[in-house]
Amino acid sequence: MSAFAFENRIWDEAETTPRDRLGKLQARRLRELVARVAEVPFYKEALARAKVKPGDIKGPDDIRRLPFTAKEDLRQHYPLGFLAVPRSQVARFHGSSGTTGKPTFVAYTADDLELWANLCARFLVAGGLRPEHTVQIAFGYGLFTGGFGLHYGVEKVGASVVPAAAGNTPRQLMLMQDLQADVLVCTPSYALNIAEVARQQGIDPRTLPLKFAHFGAEPWTEDMRKQIEAELDLIASNNYGLSEVIGPGVSGECAARNGMHISEDHFLAECVHPDTLEPVARGEQGELVFTTLTKQAMPLIRYRTRDIASLDSSPCPCGRTGARMSWVLGRTDDMLIIRGVNVFPSQIEEALLRVEGTAPHYLIEVDRPGAMDEVTVHVEVRPESFSDKMSQMQVLRDRIDREIQAVTGIRANVQLVEPQSLERSVGKAKRVVDHRREKGLI
Ligand code: ADP
Ligand code: ZN
Repeated sequence: MSAFAFENRIWDEAETTPRDRLGKLQARRLRELVARVAEVPFYKEALARAKVKPGDIKGPDDIRRLPFTAKEDLRQHYPLGFLAVPRSQVARFHGSSGTTGKPTFVAYTADDLELWANLCARFLVAGGLRPEHTVQIAFGYGLFTGGFGLHYGVEKVGASVVPAAAGNTPRQLMLMQDLQADVLVCTPSYALNIAEVARQQGIDPRTLPLKFAHFGAEPWTEDMRKQIEAELDLIASNNYGLSEVIGPGVSGECAARNGMHISEDHFLAECVHPDTLEPVARGEQGELVFTTLTKQAMPLIRYRTRDIASLDSSPCPCGRTGARMSWVLGRTDDMLIIRGVNVFPSQIEEALLRVEGTAPHYLIEVDRPGAMDEVTVHVEVRPESFSDKMSQMQVLRDRIDREIQAVTGIRANVQLVEPQSLERSVGKAKRVVDHRREKGLI
């Protein structure tokens, strides 16, 4: 059997740079970066405090002498305190989608935009994109980096773009069919939404022209991938990015499907313990930290992503040398602490998808009515499994309860809800409602 789920092709020779040469390139770029940010007030101060000069950087490991940058630092220097070039050189602004509070802005020079398109082209080709494809982009176009980032990446590869943007699912289906789009770009949760609306319209989603999909922007699981691939009869690849670092294009899966290759020639990656900020042991999970080695308008040193994943720099059969990050377990902001146990929504997803008869739509509600935390997981039942018989529903509920306990170690109150009763999203799905937050308990 081939090591690849589909044909392995590489967009950019730089993706295969031997790791020793990559290390030297990173060190040189890191030195240049430290020199470049010297006039950004936050870094001027932080570097002076750390007593580091560009010449002190001999290898990529010297990164540990440099200060971290946190989301809070960006907020404190809102809106553009991290700009490292004259304003006249800025070609475009974007912003984080504000999932966790006030948005932050990011800026790009013309060269940054060119780099970004190239980095998106890398993961798109790695995930099966070819010039003959037609790509429907169902990400929001606007401040969110998803739409424009992927748009220019697809154009770079030479494929055609249908800039559908997010939402209006019946129109998405019409465009897809009439223009014969064979590739879909959106969040994984929105792909399920599209499949569902197709079924409501009497269209079998497997008969849609889609062959490939590139999903990202939110946590999902391998089981969710299997589900989406089966429902829509396509090959789905995972890609990762965040606006502060550049947007989508930080990393993406290759045809070997054993993690997402990071473009390490442009982003120096670290994995640290979120509390101690010390590097985790090789292969262990921790918080990802990225240093943008070549970005001009708004370079960041050791940016704490709050995303939990692990790193693997062992060789990959595809020939790319960039380390692979695992799928993201979740971000530390979304981690729920339930009666002292850490739980990520993606773990609940994993548990639910193990149980036949459940639909991949769920909402986790957390509260503390008395002294104890209580978790309710609302799970949709598949139409064919939904039954008026209490006993059948009880069996299903018990199975879900057991799986959740096996994966997370906590007991949850499982509420089975009717098909299509939970809210659908067109972008990042909302998985958690934490009443403890509203009550000021956490
Ligand atoms: P916001 O922080 O407002 O959500 P972004 O739109 O920049 O801003 O989103 C970036 C975040 O989205 C990442 O930090 C990560 O938490 C999440 N994300 C992006 N791609 C993936 C992916 N493939 N898997 C899991 N999470 C992802
Ligand atoms: Zn690979």
